[in-house]
Amino acid sequence: MLPSNVEHYASAPWMRETHHAYALGETRVVLVEPICCPPRPGEHQDAQKKRQLAWILWARDLEARGRKVAAVVLTHYHEDHTIGVGPVAHSLGVPVLGPHELGDAIEGWHVVRTPGHARDHVGLFDGHTFVAGDLLELDADTRSAPFLRSLDLVADMDPELVLTAHTHPIEERTFARYCAWRLGQSAARRSHEFGR
Ligand SMILES: [Zn+2]
Repeated sequence: MLPSNVEHYASAPWMRETHHAYALGETRVVLVEPICCPPRPGEHQDAQKKRQLAWILWARDLEARGRKVAAVVLTHYHEDHTIGVGPVAHSLGVPVLGPHELGDAIEGWHVVRTPGHARDHVGLFDGHTFVAGDLLELDADTRSAPFLRSLDLVADMDPELVLTAHTHPIEERTFARYCAWRLGQSAARRSHEFGR
């Protein structure tokens, strides 16, 4: 179950599996990656606009429930995290803030620099929940030093819940097991290589 300061929105799939987007905050809210994919074959050419409208209505509903949207946030600049986001932010009158625009924190969430999947990838952490974007995507190479440093950093933060862009929420114990496995695997490889 999600904590009270997080709401989830499953965007329509595009190119790959569903994209999980989030609204973070109790009163002032950041929307993480409200993507809207372009029309698919056979869809009406207004399909993307309809998806954008659905996002805007959702954001308006958040505001009607006392959660003012302050910004749209991107964890990195891959196209499946940015497509159609600009018009949504423009309609809401809020800025789009990616890794290059974000400071150390936004609306009470720490911006955590997590290179690996992308060189300028970031996550968001409120002391309990870590929004991981694509940090844990399978294409992240276990030999990649930046990825392992990022994973080590997040493991040390000991999040109770990890929210990713393309999977279901990951609970604390599962995440800790995953980190132990990936980081242990890497440590074993290093000692093997040094031992030779
Ligand atoms: Zn990505």
